[in-house]
Amino acid sequence: MAHLPMWQANWEQAEKEWDQQAKEAAQKYPLKGLKTLPQMPGITKETAKGLKWKSLKWMIQKDTQKEVLRGFLKHPFKYGWALLKSALHSKSYLRDGDFFLYGVKSLKEFENLLKDQQALFVLGFSYCHKPFECPSGRFTPNCARDLQNAVCQQCFIGKAVHAVTPHQTIPLFIPTIHYIGGKIFEIVHQNPGKPILFLITACEMTLEMFGDWGNMVNIRGLGVRLDGRICNTMKAFALSEEGIKPGLTIVLDDTQKAILQLIRCRNQALS
Ligand code: SF4
Repeated sequence: MAHLPMWQANWEQAEKEWDQQAKEAAQKYPLKGLKTLPQMPGITKETAKGLKWKSLKWMIQKDTQKEVLRGFLKHPFKYGWALLKSALHSKSYLRDGDFFLYGVKSLKEFENLLKDQQALFVLGFSYCHKPFECPSGRFTPNCARDLQNAVCQQCFIGKAVHAVTPHQTIPLFIPTIHYIGGKIFEIVHQNPGKPILFLITACEMTLEMFGDWGNMVNIRGLGVRLDGRICNTMKAFALSEEGIKPGLTIVLDDTQKAILQLIRCRNQALS
């Protein structure tokens, strides 16, 4: 199955082959997974206090490479005003289960936006749900998505990135919040006037903390809540931003299906 899969040509067949290969790989090379799904609040009570301020402070103080500042300074008044407007709302998003909706009212509306052939689609994954055995390393912006590698064959990130049409798609593997912030600024500035859509996996706390920043650059899309060993305190978040993340997060099965359905819809529209 060296050339699998042909997601754009025959989705059902491709998914069947992928899942079969994943099963076989799991028997030969089982990955270290979660033994049980921990029951953790998305954000602890203490952490939830003053989260918008904590987010602003984090963005400014930890921007050591000036990735976010550089982007912000391209249009400081426009961005400053948009950030303020978004921050004045208690929530920067609407919620539908595991999906956080930014600038869209429903999953259906997002699905329709994905049909726009002109739109760029940013498909991003937090590093914390890469497998521990990931050949590209967990705390990196890389993903080899090697079809011959038994780890990649079992990885949801690999499945999603292989499945999506490469046309007008920008896959990103996200080690830090400043990395994704800088990348989004870059994409927005290099594509003036183009609609930019995104689907990004992250912990609930991050989706809550940084939603105003996405609204600031006027991109629309979905944050997907991760489950498993998530970060739900500032301390855990701070360590994770330095690559210290001993736990594994996951995208729940039904949520994986919903993501793949959106990708399929995008493929159909762009084929
Ligand atoms: S598909 Fe990418 S993220 Fe997943 S294991 Fe392979 S290299 Fe790592």
